[in-house]
Amino acid sequence: MYNIIFVGAPGAGKGTQASRVAQKLNMVHISSGDLFRQALEQGTELGKQVKAYMEKGALVPDEITIQMVMERLSATDGANGVILDGFPRNLPQAEALDGAVGARGKTIDKVVYIEVSEEELVKRLSGRWLCRQCQAVYNTVNSPPKMEGKCDKCGGELYQRPDDKPETVKKRLDVYFAETAPLIDYYRRQGTLMTVEGEGSVEEVTRRIVAALPAEKLVVK
Ligand code: AMP
Repeated sequence: MYNIIFVGAPGAGKGTQASRVAQKLNMVHISSGDLFRQALEQGTELGKQVKAYMEKGALVPDEITIQMVMERLSATDGANGVILDGFPRNLPQAEALDGAVGARGKTIDKVVYIEVSEEELVKRLSGRWLCRQCQAVYNTVNSPPKMEGKCDKCGGELYQRPDDKPETVKKRLDVYFAETAPLIDYYRRQGTLMTVEGEGSVEEVTRRIVAALPAEKLVVK
């Protein structure tokens, strides 16, 4: 089992790349943001608990987040590997993850940090559209859908995330620099960090990530 974490600012392409790399390498993709959005759409108890935080662009409290991700992780035993995207997002979450992974005799093998300039992040976030059905991500600037408002893959309706509004984007970037960016040093000290240049085409960035991962443990499709 090969465990990878994707770290990067909102808009760095974590979700897009984690999904593409997971498919290519036959791994399970776990996105904490997608899990929260699904709970919101389904109107579950969890969805009600996290709604206000998400709308503000604030982090959901660690207790709720850690429990949700751990439950999802424990359902992946036997998988070829896991890619975590959007989690951990601060030091307490990273420490909780290390503890849980260590207790099962496993390790975090690599942390992929996708680096993108702040100017590019703002541009990407404001042009982002998602599919309501399959969560595919489009961008009106770099990767528009063939038909406006419709998903190329499944025909689902595209929507803009409410937290991609300019004021919320600013808040999410502030939260990222204050709380999540310190993880880069944390994993660098652990010796697992790998930095990948996140600008360029989606395909090019995927190629860079796959090329930078050690080949021996990966089962490329
Ligand atoms: P994302 O799709 O990763 O940008 O996440 C969207 C929103 O979900 C964030 O702005 C937070 O409100 C919440 N969220 C996702 N992952 C986490 C996490 N690891 N810790 C706390 N909140 C999170």
